[in-house]
Amino acid sequence: MSVSDVLSRIDRDELIALTRDLVRIPSVVRPGDPEATEAAVAAHVERWLRAEGFAVEVHEVAPGRPNVLGAIGDGRGGPTLLLEGHTDVVTEGDAREWTHPPFGGDVVDGRLYGRGSADMKGGLAAAMVAAAAIARAGAPLGGRLVVGALVDEEGDMLGARHLCTSVLGRELSAAIICEPEQNELCLEQRGVVWARVTVRGRMAHGAMPEAGVNPISAVGALIREAPALERRLRRLCRRTPHLRPPTVTPTIAQAPVQGVPQSNVIPSAAQLTLDVRLTPGPDADAVAKEIDVACQRVMDACPGATVQWQPVNGYRLATRVERGEPLVRAMVRGVRQVTGRAPRFGGVPGSTDGTILRTTLGIPIVTCGPGDRLIPHQVDEHVEIDQLLEAARIYTASALNFLEV
Ligand SMILES: [Zn+2]
Repeated sequence: MSVSDVLSRIDRDELIALTRDLVRIPSVVRPGDPEATEAAVAAHVERWLRAEGFAVEVHEVAPGRPNVLGAIGDGRGGPTLLLEGHTDVVTEGDAREWTHPPFGGDVVDGRLYGRGSADMKGGLAAAMVAAAAIARAGAPLGGRLVVGALVDEEGDMLGARHLCTSVLGRELSAAIICEPEQNELCLEQRGVVWARVTVRGRMAHGAMPEAGVNPISAVGALIREAPALERRLRRLCRRTPHLRPPTVTPTIAQAPVQGVPQSNVIPSAAQLTLDVRLTPGPDADAVAKEIDVACQRVMDACPGATVQWQPVNGYRLATRVERGEPLVRAMVRGVRQVTGRAPRFGGVPGSTDGTILRTTLGIPIVTCGPGDRLIPHQVDEHVEIDQLLEAARIYTASALNFLEV
């Protein structure tokens, strides 16, 4: 059976309908609200995969927050390839700012609109339809193909972390991360460390600052240290054509850390979070050392203040896979089979579930999916339907190539 036989089974209207169904089930996670989780959309994915004859596993990651995994083929005789998507979406913000309702799934002028249409219910639907086309065709597989719909990518990536601890997760050989990258093959992803820096001073009256140590002044010094930290990290990290160089961006400033803010009180402590983005190269220790240097310089400049930091959610270092990886070769061939041209290569500006799979399991990942790279989290998020269909076809061809008998 040829790849084009299987590709001919992918139905554009079915793909549009499935994407629309997923968009219409809101899955903004609102902590504290047990109704606002991925549960409903995960249940839809589960039903759909079961109806297509997939072997389905549901892993309860947290209450009301299940990972859904559906497999075809046999993992005992060959590799296991994961097509990965996440079921959570970010908030729609103010729905009145949207031209098309955020959970409507409107189709207008070749685009499907709605929160998650690009990030990434479109990519998830494309993965589901791609795997189903292979199943329906009865195409022989020299291994196993798994579609994974994971929770909490937009939060702490609990779904991906959980998958890495499961039996199925440990059996994975490679993964395609179906995030919106306009169907480019992204072999690199920037890493992230959220450095939460706590400055302790000494509480005092605002009218007598000499009686205390003001931690807010030290936060100011830390903000002024950020460009130097950024320069040092840029020297440490590799330059790559597809990724922006490292950046250090202050994102959360808070004082006091506890208690009531008062205009005439110097607080005892303040916090600043630095959003540190990395390209491949240094390990966690090397990055930590540079952040330590920044903290030490602030202490030197602000006598009496103590400065400590810790990573929020650990280190998610940049990832990279080589062009020679069998998964990359299978996808390069897949793109040629589908589009008749060589693939475009790209890079992921942030981290994804793939970061966790790559760094925890050590497996090769390629990020490739439908949707403009800049559209996620915006008002009037949408996905081009032609790109959606192209993604489903790329996944099908790439999976058949990777799992060739
Ligand atoms: Zn995403």
